[in-house]
Amino acid sequence: MNDAAPPLLDVDGLALSLARFDGTARILNGVDLVVFPGERVALVGESGCGKTLTARMIMGLFDERGASVEGRIRFDDDDLLALDARGWDRLRGRRLTMIFQDPVAALNPVFTIADQLATVILRGGQAHTRVEARDLARPALAAVAIADPDRVLDSYPFQLSGGLNQRVLIAMALVNRPALVLADEPGTALDVTVQAQTLALMHNLTDASGAAVLLITHNLGVVRNFAQRVYVMYAGSIVEEAPVAELFAAPRHPYTQALFAAVPRLTGEGLPVGIEGGVPDYRVPPPGCRFHPRCPHARPQCHQPPPVIEVAPGHKVACVLFGEKRDG
Ligand code: SF4
Repeated sequence: MNDAAPPLLDVDGLALSLARFDGTARILNGVDLVVFPGERVALVGESGCGKTLTARMIMGLFDERGASVEGRIRFDDDDLLALDARGWDRLRGRRLTMIFQDPVAALNPVFTIADQLATVILRGGQAHTRVEARDLARPALAAVAIADPDRVLDSYPFQLSGGLNQRVLIAMALVNRPALVLADEPGTALDVTVQAQTLALMHNLTDASGAAVLLITHNLGVVRNFAQRVYVMYAGSIVEEAPVAELFAAPRHPYTQALFAAVPRLTGEGLPVGIEGGVPDYRVPPPGCRFHPRCPHARPQCHQPPPVIEVAPGHKVACVLFGEKRDG
């Protein structure tokens, strides 16, 4: 990672409203995040907080009627919100790739793995024929610890285990040497062992290739060994960002602290404490800090948008508690 370089991905003030028959849902509420070249970053939060939507918008895969978008997404020199079909063809599957949660849904059941991997390789321009593509597919599968690439290449997804399909997806995401991989809860549709293997593989392979990763997850436990920096998201807003060691040593935002309190401890000491309440109704989100109906420290000022305070180098918190300390 070279954070003296400009960010590879720069999401700035991303807001999304969706007009529905029963009202307008204001889902993303000004998301700011950056990923530097070669960096592994995690975006963490409960289900329904807007993580996957953010990833889909970055990939240009969000195209719903009645959507109103504000803000900016830059990737290298491209403005992704203004990109046309040709621009997406140049980026998606090449410089910018994505690994989805459920490998069974992500792979096409009626084509062999060889067909699907060859299509990706041909798109990337590394090969010009299917024979050449197959020659490149073998080492790509070997790199994700598939011992018998030819058997896997000649199989249909339903003939392979979930874990093998997940590795095929990783191979597909990395074979064109992307600059950035978005990974949306990879392996969580399977089991914890597959999830751990998936993240370990991605860690090693992206380290070797220099690709950056934005990992989307609801699970703080998987973040610690994988990411270098973390963004915590709540109800469409980033509420805290920090280097991973700093966040685990000293989570500051009340929501982040509640997320940590909800993680079961391997020592068996104490019981995990769930976060009371749920993600708000996006048609009528709470004004100001969207966490205030669930926050044990809420006060009248929380009905205004909270300030974003840098409490330590690279550690920022959106909460009035830290604004008060600094002002006082
Ligand atoms: Fe709690 Fe207020 Fe901080 Fe929001 S701004 S987390 S409601 S103290």
